[in-house]
Amino acid sequence: MARVQLKDVVKQYDEVLAVNNMNLDLRDGEFITLVGPSGCGKSTTLETVAGLTKPTSGQVLIGDREVTNLPPKDRGIAMVFQNIALFPHMDVYDNISFGLRLRDFPQEEMDRRVEDAAEIVRLEGMLERMPDEMSGGQRQRVAIARAIVREPEVFLMDEPLANLDAKLRVNMRTELQRLHKQLDTTIIYVTHNQAEAMTMSDRIAVLNKGELQQIASPLTCYNEPANRFVAGFIGSPSMNFVDTTVGDGTLDAPGYSVTFDTTALDGLSRGDRVEMGIRPEDVYLTANSAEAQDPGEPISVETDVLEPMGDEIFVYLKEITGGGDGDGMGDLEERQGLLMSVDPATDIREEEQVEIVLDRGRIHLFDDETGDAISHGVVSEASIEADVEQDSAQADD
Ligand code: ADP
Repeated sequence: MARVQLKDVVKQYDEVLAVNNMNLDLRDGEFITLVGPSGCGKSTTLETVAGLTKPTSGQVLIGDREVTNLPPKDRGIAMVFQNIALFPHMDVYDNISFGLRLRDFPQEEMDRRVEDAAEIVRLEGMLERMPDEMSGGQRQRVAIARAIVREPEVFLMDEPLANLDAKLRVNMRTELQRLHKQLDTTIIYVTHNQAEAMTMSDRIAVLNKGELQQIASPLTCYNEPANRFVAGFIGSPSMNFVDTTVGDGTLDAPGYSVTFDTTALDGLSRGDRVEMGIRPEDVYLTANSAEAQDPGEPISVETDVLEPMGDEIFVYLKEITGGGDGDGMGDLEERQGLLMSVDPATDIREEEQVEIVLDRGRIHLFDDETGDAISHGVVSEASIEADVEQDSAQADD
């Protein structure tokens, strides 16, 4: 296993700046996921580590060695791709050992490595099968075993589960986590799927337009997104965003206000525009608001469409005022109506007037121009005082 560093890495194709000044310092043995929308530079970044793409400028280090100009075979890496390229006329043993045979490995050592790898990916007893006798998931395991036998210092995986069906993909996520524990090797994993990134990684690096937005643990990215992009990309369904103006101890949204201690927020003054972000699970029906850390005042709103998901119901709420085209949905991209997630047992209907509260303890604020996070979950003074009173009341009991 090895530390991997990218220092000021830039990759410019003719017209496209695919990677813009990427700095990453990945720890020994870490499972890191590069995640972001299609075209954000994930694969190009991975290819600069693999040696398949030469950066326009900057350095790549694996362990203590600078590898920027080394060919892939001298970097101590192994790759697994989305398209599983197995040789159709070779059995599993030959497919797994192909790279070792090219390097004239002794038969005994080759047998040992293939058997160990087959055991790790649970393909024991299948070494004589041909690829067309295997399922998609099994073929992907052959590809992973082929990477394992090389005993690389770093595994590079580019959307390796993208071609598998949904159920298998979820199973393989668990397998990859197990594999990571067992091999104790640095893994750099590329996906556009934020759920995959959240569930498997020690840290995730969120990319947009060739630039690193944030690198942190999945929960940090979720709870303390560095900017509006990360806030919107991580989490499903996505965070709600509302344009607000700073009022007198309030955040004023179209049609309603949230009492909010904005004095604690550096540099914000009355009249400033800020974007408020709140996740669907942090919007409550007033009746259930005891679960909120710091419930704001009730807001009256009409429900729009309901989406029962089984374990929760997504409730689309109509815009409280203005802006929409009358059907409450507005332009989907632009809509300011909130999405709320409620317990499946909740008695709620479409087109019904309800009262909601926002959990002020979970409100995120973003700079209106740069999109940088200004604050996360400011718990109001009033709520802290109420908590202290409650605690001391309990202590007195
Ligand atoms: P991702 O993996 O996040 O989908 P890529 O790293 O593949 O993104 O691509 C980043 C950007 O660089 C895209 O705009 C893509 O079109 C461009 N790009 C990638 N490879 C090449 C290439 N060989 N020539 C020109 N442009 C490329």
